[in-house]
Amino acid sequence: MKNGSDVKGSVLRIERTSIHDGPGLRTVLFLKGCPLRCRWCSTPESQRSDPEKGYARERCIGCGVCVRSCPEGALSFSADRQKVCTDSSKCQKCFLCVAKCPQRAMKQYGSFMSVAEVVREITKDEIFFFHSGGGVTISGGEPLNQPDFTSEVLRECKERGIHTAIETALHAPWKSIEKVLPWLDVLFVDIKHMDQRNHKEWVGTGNSLIHDNIRRIDQSKYPVEIIVRIPLIPGINDSNANLLAVGEFCKSIHKLKEIELLPYHRLGVETYKNLEVDYRLKDMEPPSLERIMDRANLLSKCNMSVPVRIGGGFTGKLPDHKVKDEESSRKVGG
Ligand code: SF4
Ligand code: SF4
Repeated sequence: MKNGSDVKGSVLRIERTSIHDGPGLRTVLFLKGCPLRCRWCSTPESQRSDPEKGYARERCIGCGVCVRSCPEGALSFSADRQKVCTDSSKCQKCFLCVAKCPQRAMKQYGSFMSVAEVVREITKDEIFFFHSGGGVTISGGEPLNQPDFTSEVLRECKERGIHTAIETALHAPWKSIEKVLPWLDVLFVDIKHMDQRNHKEWVGTGNSLIHDNIRRIDQSKYPVEIIVRIPLIPGINDSNANLLAVGEFCKSIHKLKEIELLPYHRLGVETYKNLEVDYRLKDMEPPSLERIMDRANLLSKCNMSVPVRIGGGFTGKLPDHKVKDEESSRKVGG
């Protein structure tokens, strides 16, 4: 029988010393695979479940090393020799081309790792956790897409006294959520749109399951702290009506500790190109500082007992004492 430490997960990357994903210094484990397709997603490389290959055409010098290295004959130059093309029906994802490319134009997004391997990496940072009050945060993609792997990593960390958090959209069956709750200190959950139709249009699914899960966690016996994140996407979910509806919903969450606004940004645009995936919001501009402040203040006036914070490179001064600022992070806007 398989030991819990042997369970393998599809891991995108591990980032160290983050200050944006929970208290203290965090080691953030990004997993691959997400059931949602938010049109503003800044990490398209986290959406598919399995490891995948990308190609940064602007870095490629056309040396042909990758084409000659591929054991499957899956790579060839385009007719004008301006780019390398992959025949996905032949590619076996051995990632030899990535290893051989002298320009780092070929990229690997993700790999399979066991719980034991991941925990070994996380525990290297225990001294930072100890001195900063930090810990581990599992993000995505969607951590609940791999519930056994996620719960095993959390359990191993918790048993070592490491503070734990996940960043989730909560679009998951209750049986997956139940597996992680016993090992969780903080749960970050996105509320992307309160209106069903808009949620479906911009995110790809309705929001009922997400709201039901938030309520169920709130009523559960587990003492997890809930932090609601709102990606602030201009013209999509930043209206008075939507933000006030989010505020009303949040008032009913007893375990709510904080609300965080994550202003839209464009940091994922290059990755969309590398993956040859169409980015449908390519003409959208990030919100202005004034707009972000205005939206934060609107939320902070909803009579909630928790503070509203702003993530996403916000460095300006806010007039309302309930609103705190925070430095930039890639984990913003979704
Ligand atoms: S990942 Fe492997 S099989 Fe696929 S193109 Fe690269 S070298 Fe060829
Ligand atoms: S090895 Fe790298 S730089 Fe050379 S052709 Fe392939 S992708 Fe381009």
